[in-house]
Amino acid sequence: MSRIRLITTGGTIASSRKAGSDRVVANISGAELKARLHDPLDGIEIEIDDFSSVGSFAFDLPLAFSLARHINSVLAKEDCDGVVVTHGTDTMEESCYMADLIVNSDKPVVFTGAQRHAGDADTDGPRNIAEAMRVAAAPQARGIGAVIVFEQDIHAARDVTKAHTSRVDTFRSNSYGKLGEVDGENVFIYRRPTGRFHADVTRIVPEVELMKLAMGSSPAFLDFAVGQGARAIVIEAFGRGNAPNGFAEAIAPIVAKGIPVIVASRCQEGRTRPIYGGGSGGKDLADAGVIFSGDLSGLKARILAAVLLGKNAGMDAFRRDFEKVTCTPTS
Ligand code: ASP
Repeated sequence: MSRIRLITTGGTIASSRKAGSDRVVANISGAELKARLHDPLDGIEIEIDDFSSVGSFAFDLPLAFSLARHINSVLAKEDCDGVVVTHGTDTMEESCYMADLIVNSDKPVVFTGAQRHAGDADTDGPRNIAEAMRVAAAPQARGIGAVIVFEQDIHAARDVTKAHTSRVDTFRSNSYGKLGEVDGENVFIYRRPTGRFHADVTRIVPEVELMKLAMGSSPAFLDFAVGQGARAIVIEAFGRGNAPNGFAEAIAPIVAKGIPVIVASRCQEGRTRPIYGGGSGGKDLADAGVIFSGDLSGLKARILAAVLLGKNAGMDAFRRDFEKVTCTPTS
């Protein structure tokens, strides 16, 4: 018998239309989610753990961090073999990556959710929970880090992203593909993630902003973010990591103040690499002191920055850790 903890946080999977209103809200408990499963899940004992009841668009980094720490304490118990976390899809990839960095157990950590709410006759929630349970109970899913299980697919926290606003197969792992899949009662793992990183921190620094660049964007937002107390800024720059005119000049004094500026790419796939000069090409941004995020997306780079800042170890150590996690040489 496998003993799996079902940690609920809200999201569409635990939502339905509020009586007398036009809103879908998180209002369904873990016990109800369990009662609505169609699959008897023989051999799996489910323990309910209602953690929060919010749409994931209302999550913030402190809540995601406390969820990750909660998962850690649950997995430390001998009578728990793994966890399934039900979560809204909007920011699931961020909570999942936070858990991937913070959880220090090899036991499976499986996030899932739904695109069609629990009051919808065609809801995808029960089957996703059942498949997530099978992964959480599977010995071969140990040691692969936090994952998202959705529409039979198993995705690594670092790679996965929500790709479609409404389709039930919304999650994709763009560059590298999924880790495996669930087929009926069977769980198949086709590849295991390499280079995972565990951060032993007791706090995070949530004041990390993310800015997506567009042709001719103004760097004014950088100073605005610093003025608002940002402790690090991630920019989703063009292609290999290039920015519009003015960014290199705006970034240099920010980095000089000890505020890391991280350059991710707004492309879905591939790595950043400083190549170009002229204005704020990647080489100019490197001269200004940025840290490149390699193949880590802007969303995930922001989570990593908040976690590494929690070490409070200074800019050099931050840069070293960041470049180690993302395997990113600066030149
Ligand atoms: N659409 C979202 C969901 O799938 C809402 C949320 O993220 O909570 O759950």
